[in-house]
Amino acid sequence: TSFLTMNLSRPILKALTTVGFSKPTPIQAATIPVALLGKDVVGGAVTGSGKTAAFIIPMLERLLYRDRGKKAVATRCLVLVPTRELAAQCFEVGMKLAAHTDIRFCLIVGGLSVKSQEVALRSRPDIIIATPGRLIDHLHNSHSFALDTLDILVLDEADRMLSDGFSDELTEIIKSCPTSRQTMLFSATMTDSVDELVRMSLNKPVRLFV
Ligand code: AMP
Repeated sequence: TSFLTMNLSRPILKALTTVGFSKPTPIQAATIPVALLGKDVVGGAVTGSGKTAAFIIPMLERLLYRDRGKKAVATRCLVLVPTRELAAQCFEVGMKLAAHTDIRFCLIVGGLSVKSQEVALRSRPDIIIATPGRLIDHLHNSHSFALDTLDILVLDEADRMLSDGFSDELTEIIKSCPTSRQTMLFSATMTDSVDELVRMSLNKPVRLFV
């Protein structure tokens, strides 16, 4: 497979050339076409497989062309990851792939100023990349922040988020999202608790193990 046969838009193809991704990795080849259809996805994928771009690319495409204009400025996508480092990496990849678009990102992790994050959230970024703990703080404390306009939720490294003790936070965040959303979950291992999370948060998911 090639990125060229996936019907991606010019700004995304241009960004892929800039970052030097000439050919999709197996998880990208499997995930992108399914995710572009709006289906829920469970991906068995480890760090290093290219899974970040596997969910960022369809997310950007859907923001750009599927339903833009339908809503006023609103936060449309949320990516949850277990650690600050992974959040920062995901943010970097996202910014690079969105370089030729006007899509706005926001990084919500511990260790950074809560006040400046509140300001950023109030401007309704298109995409939030967050760790569960800090996102919950904002949900609890900031009256102007909600997830009711969300279209796409990504749970990245789900097994690790659960083993790091974020189960309650995940449940609460997922319950704050509209049920009509698209959800993509990635996990290196499929434990019972990951299965339970899949049952709770995904709707007839396509399972992709590459
Ligand atoms: P990830 O698994 O998302 O952390 O990605 C692992 C590494 O693979 C990162 O350094 C990416 O820049 C790189 N990468 C992701 N997709 C591709 C691709 N299609 N071609 C070449 N490198 C890639």
